[in-house]
Amino acid sequence: MKDVFNLADDLGPFKVIHVHEPGIGLKGVLVVDNVARGPSIGGVRMATDVTTEECARLARAMTFKNAAADLAHGGGKAVLAGDPKMPKAQKETLIRGFCRALEEVEQYIFAPDMGTDEECMAWVKDEIGRVVALPREVGGIPLDEIGATGFGLSHAIDVAAEFCDLEIRGARFVVQGFGAVGKHATRFLSAAGAIPVAVSDSAGTIYNADGLDVDHLIALKSAGKSVTEYEGGERRDGDAIIDIECDIWIPAARPDVIQEGNVDRLKTRMFVQGANIPITYAAEKKLQQRGILNIPDFIANAGGVICAATEYQGGGETAAFAAIEEKLRRNTREVLETAQREQVLTRDAALALARRRVEQAMSYRRWNIF
Ligand code: NAD
Repeated sequence: MKDVFNLADDLGPFKVIHVHEPGIGLKGVLVVDNVARGPSIGGVRMATDVTTEECARLARAMTFKNAAADLAHGGGKAVLAGDPKMPKAQKETLIRGFCRALEEVEQYIFAPDMGTDEECMAWVKDEIGRVVALPREVGGIPLDEIGATGFGLSHAIDVAAEFCDLEIRGARFVVQGFGAVGKHATRFLSAAGAIPVAVSDSAGTIYNADGLDVDHLIALKSAGKSVTEYEGGERRDGDAIIDIECDIWIPAARPDVIQEGNVDRLKTRMFVQGANIPITYAAEKKLQQRGILNIPDFIANAGGVICAATEYQGGGETAAFAAIEEKLRRNTREVLETAQREQVLTRDAALALARRRVEQAMSYRRWNIF
């Protein structure tokens, strides 16, 4: 395991805490990266191969994501060693033990990540109370059910449309991955008059140049079926969705789906990142060189984390939707204007924005270096 001080730089990490409770087989790490903007929020990742180094890297990503979303929160992350599919009673013991061990670290607010879910967060609430993304029954806002991230994407797209002279009404869009993010993005964009011409899931792609019916698609998924079972569309394989001509292309499935080797197949005016890291940096460069407007993941898909922060402040769904709309619109505009003015990649403009906000917050602290 790499010494954490090899990872230290001018932003953090602020605290690195190793937790070991041999009696229950508990091994975990918490990294609080930066708290200049407020207590850190970041998920607990449960996996068999987690490391301190990975935890520190993910915590830094949260520092930037929360700052880019303009939340009064810093970034942190926790990792817990273990198979997330272990028997539930054993998992509950580990989660309860882990959060109890970190009870006094008030600069970290628990949240779910890979291998943990809202039920795990309910156990954390029961133990120590400092947690977001809870089940509705204990004060949570079910962000996937209400479509927080899809709603945010639709607002990012609405702002971006001005930058490429696109009329949303009648714009043709494509969504790769018809899950929590993709489904709701389709719903909100369709309501604004845009036309979904293709969507996909892990079974393949469905295409209709005249448009797909969003309610029909959602009904299929609710019945546990694939979008490829849609009647009145042309069925294609999963990869074929990259070639479909449209105005807006939305990745909402897996990481790294667009790379240098396939980016030139995209025929769109706008690429809006619903998924996390769906495209490599080199491919983003090529995309923008071709004049395609690109909205990076941590700007476009921030709806979920904004919803979680609203929940933490005691707000409900109405407050969450208002915060998502306001922040997504402002942040998207700021990133696109900076990228245009300084002729840089939108990802670089977004990272610079996030770093600036963190440094500004750090300058108010007693031991500031900025
Ligand atoms: P999800 O599991 O609800 O949906 C994923 C969908 O992608 C499923 O329909 C699945 O069938 C489909 N899929 C899987 N592999 C595919 C492939 N190769 N081609 C096409 N479709 C494929 O997940 P989600 O919550 O919608 O998250 C999607 C992405 O968005 C992830 O990268 C996630 O990290 C990111 N994200 C989610 C949120 C959120 O609020 N849920 C917020 C920010 C980022």
